[in-house]
Amino acid sequence: MAIPTKARFLTQTEWDILTGVFGDTLPFRQRILITNGLGGGDAPFTIPTSAISVATIPAAVQAALSSLAIQYLGGQDGLLARTMNRSGFTGPMAMLSQVTSLVNLGYLVNVGPTPFQDMSGTHKNLLVHELAHVWQGKNSTAATTYVVNSIMHQCRASIFGSSRNGAYDYPAGQSWSSYNTEQQASIIEHWFESGKPESGPLWPYIRDYVRKGKT
Ligand SMILES: [Zn+2]
Repeated sequence: MAIPTKARFLTQTEWDILTGVFGDTLPFRQRILITNGLGGGDAPFTIPTSAISVATIPAAVQAALSSLAIQYLGGQDGLLARTMNRSGFTGPMAMLSQVTSLVNLGYLVNVGPTPFQDMSGTHKNLLVHELAHVWQGKNSTAATTYVVNSIMHQCRASIFGSSRNGAYDYPAGQSWSSYNTEQQASIIEHWFESGKPESGPLWPYIRDYVRKGKT
């Protein structure tokens, strides 16, 4: 595990890669933040800021993520600041309370120190994989806590080797909705890795579900 100490927005090159996969079904670019942190087992993980208070996340990580979220959300569009001004709250605890009470304001994509530098080259498969979880967070009709728990428990992204092994396996040809969050992310990643073919077994999932925002 590595507590995030740096955060940045997606570059234009990274965003172009992502829109080439997801079309217009991702959250606004300004809602997505890349950090140099890592989760349990030093695995990358993605989490909505709305879930920062989830009890399964160690307190130190909660604090670091909250701090980043406060900087990010407060500094970008001023929504957090405006909300706080209206309600008259001040101080770090009030800010944390506001951050954790607002739903789906943003996403923290924690990828570790090396991919953090640039995800448009060597780490573009990881970029697509993690943003698949952002896509799930935005488009899922399930409760946010369900989505978060599912991601947190299953995600071990491809930076650690082939994500086709073990828990990442998916039986091909089944209905999109029958795949769990990790299987869906793997399908999207593998379709991208294979050159975004507009034919073959994975293409219908992209065309009919991913680009239509259907989880
Ligand atoms: Zn994953």
